[in-house]
Amino acid sequence: LHKRKDYRDLKFSAAVQAEIARSNNESLMSPRSNAPVVAIVGSLNVDFITRTKRLPEAGETLTAISFDIGFGGKGANQAVACGRLSRRKPKVAASADASTDHSDETVNVRMIGAVGDDSFADDFIRSLQADGIDTTGVVRLPKQKTGIANIIVEDESGENRILLAPNANYARPGEVDLVPDDADVVVFQLEIPLEQVLYNMKKAHAANQYVLLNPAPAQVLPDDAYENIDCLVVNETEAATLSQLSGAEARDIDRVATGLLDRGVRHLVVVTLGAKGVYYISRSNGPAEARGTFISACKAKVVDTTAAGDTFVGASAVFIARAKDRTLDPREGIEFANRAAARTVEKPGAMAAIPWLDEV
Ligand code: ADP
Repeated sequence: LHKRKDYRDLKFSAAVQAEIARSNNESLMSPRSNAPVVAIVGSLNVDFITRTKRLPEAGETLTAISFDIGFGGKGANQAVACGRLSRRKPKVAASADASTDHSDETVNVRMIGAVGDDSFADDFIRSLQADGIDTTGVVRLPKQKTGIANIIVEDESGENRILLAPNANYARPGEVDLVPDDADVVVFQLEIPLEQVLYNMKKAHAANQYVLLNPAPAQVLPDDAYENIDCLVVNETEAATLSQLSGAEARDIDRVATGLLDRGVRHLVVVTLGAKGVYYISRSNGPAEARGTFISACKAKVVDTTAAGDTFVGASAVFIARAKDRTLDPREGIEFANRAAARTVEKPGAMAAIPWLDEV
């Protein structure tokens, strides 16, 4: 039984399931019992990164400059950001030490998602655990492959071409309950089926959990989705898509952000503006007093901006989870996220570039 990967599909008692999980080395976490809980409901992808001098023509075979494998997906990146930004960097790298920091800043981070029954899944889960993340909500789906992102980088231009195979991320039905009861803050992106996100945002909101949505990759949302969102974090492209605006109208950030708040977002709309910084508008003081605020980006020596947005979202979720009153002035939290994201752009890679709390 211990070797069965699909044991979660069998009807065992919770105690037996926990015992099997332990013997499979799945739960290295020793959560701090009174710490707030952030659940990240989203994608896990393995990145295959190939660098090439130029792109091959149709029918042509080229030899690449290099090849690397990394773990990613917006869900997993944001979970790692939450894990690292609520803990000091452990002295022994890649150990379960990350889960033993029980300082006041600690947040219990739960990743909720799906992987396949391949060997990538095992390595992926171990890597998340080393960042202090509880992976008991990551299901291994029999007969499925883990999500794969084929990333081709053209060396001279630095341009990316990405071919995504969502695999396990898209293998579950839309209306499946994913949000853990004990979560204080639940974070969603759009790399899993939209109906799954909409269904679970509604349930989370009904259960009085704080819902943060990062609608990436961008898709138009139904009007009734907004009332279930407490905080919406969008970049400029996502902001334009959601507002269905283009040209000069889409560039008027105040108008775009106000428009999104007016659709019913309950607390806060944050528009990240890359190297320019962040613009946000909150309902804290009631709709009539709502005023937008701009915060410029922190100075950074830019190496690679991948995962800047994911770091920003993870940092925001951790800050909100620790706040006693989640509807208060968001400025301090946004400044923290802005500093964390600036650290990410200074390092190459995606997940590898996400900083720990003591590095921000
Ligand atoms: P995404 O990665 O989702 O497209 P952005 O490009 O807007 O998101 O970046 C997210 C955040 O990362 C920004 O709001 C800012 O805080 C930070 N950031 C991005 N680029 C830079 C930069 N060049 N210098 C400093 N901070 C940056």
